[in-house]
Amino acid sequence: MRITGYKSHGVSAAAALVNAVTSASGDDSDDALRRLLRDNEFFWQQFDARDADDFRRWGRTLRPFFEASGVEEAMALLNRLMLEVPMHPHLADHEPHGLHMHYAPPSSRLPHRFRATTLMNLAELVVEHGLGRTGECAADGCDRVYADTSRAGRRRFCSESCANRTNVAAFRARHRG
Ligand SMILES: [Zn+2]
Ligand SMILES: [Zn+2]
Repeated sequence: MRITGYKSHGVSAAAALVNAVTSASGDDSDDALRRLLRDNEFFWQQFDARDADDFRRWGRTLRPFFEASGVEEAMALLNRLMLEVPMHPHLADHEPHGLHMHYAPPSSRLPHRFRATTLMNLAELVVEHGLGRTGECAADGCDRVYADTSRAGRRRFCSESCANRTNVAAFRARHRG
């Protein structure tokens, strides 16, 4: 698995959806969901406002994955979901990804395809990296999650601003003491 690039777009999309739906600062409006799909290279043009609740439910369903305290807990969750989400793996070849896997049945609607892809990409991530690439933001008072698809894989914060805020606080604490 290439950790960067389209094969992990479902991982980033999963974290973004969890934050949109479950974090205090999240925006889970229809427009925000549409943007999230576009930013993560899903077929956002097929987003239908009637499906918005489907996406929101899925965001709440995936939150415990990012909070899992160990690989076994994460495995149990993903395995249960893989039984619940109907899969029909097949090859597809379209822009901008070229040849790649689809996991949902070909005729499925967008929310189902989104569920299948995010689920399988998270499962692939766990196979490759355990829980080393995902988690809850380490900044005080932040309830967002992150997914690290960079090569280095050292991320512990949801955003640059949380990382900077925490570093500044640690710096000040050192200099006070
Ligand atoms: Zn595709
Ligand atoms: Zn944060």
